Amino acid sequence: MLYKLYSPDPDCIFCKIVDKKMDATIVFENDDIVAFNDIRPLAPVHVLVIPKKHIASINDVNNPEDVKLLGNMVVTARDIAEKLDIAKNGYKLLYRTGKHGGQEVDHIHLHLIGGAPLHEEIRPLEVNWKE
Ligand code: AMP
Ligand code: ZN
Repeated sequence: MLYKLYSPDPDCIFCKIVDKKMDATIVFENDDIVAFNDIRPLAPVHVLVIPKKHIASINDVNNPEDVKLLGNMVVTARDIAEKLDIAKNGYKLLYRTGKHGGQEVDHIHLHLIGGAPLHEEIRPLEVNWKE
């Protein structure tokens, strides 16, 4: 995919990182994907894998090319985990989506989190949601 065929969003910080208009510690880059260290790491390894193409969220993935891109992002995260030597012990991959999912940046990003045993916490804010 030639991401340059698609327009960056001028207000999107991750588009700025793709276009090298904003600094980031880039750990991987190819024609379609960039991966860089999260600025507020939650664990010893916290990398964000993003498509160069601006897609706001998983809810906006609506064609086979974008679906393929998501798969390539997952495999890229797996390869980075291997390169950083955390694959054997394991890690978490996380796509946050929308308000309830806690998505802060509206440009799809896959969190690769690891390097230490991770907390299980993935529950609603309302603890009594089942009652
Ligand atoms: P999310 O809450 O899933 O939308 O995650 C957004 C992530 O982007 C957070 O973990 C932030 O720490 C991270 N982040 C925001 N701005 C930057 C930046 N300029 N460089 C690297 N990571 C960033
Ligand atoms: Zn963007």
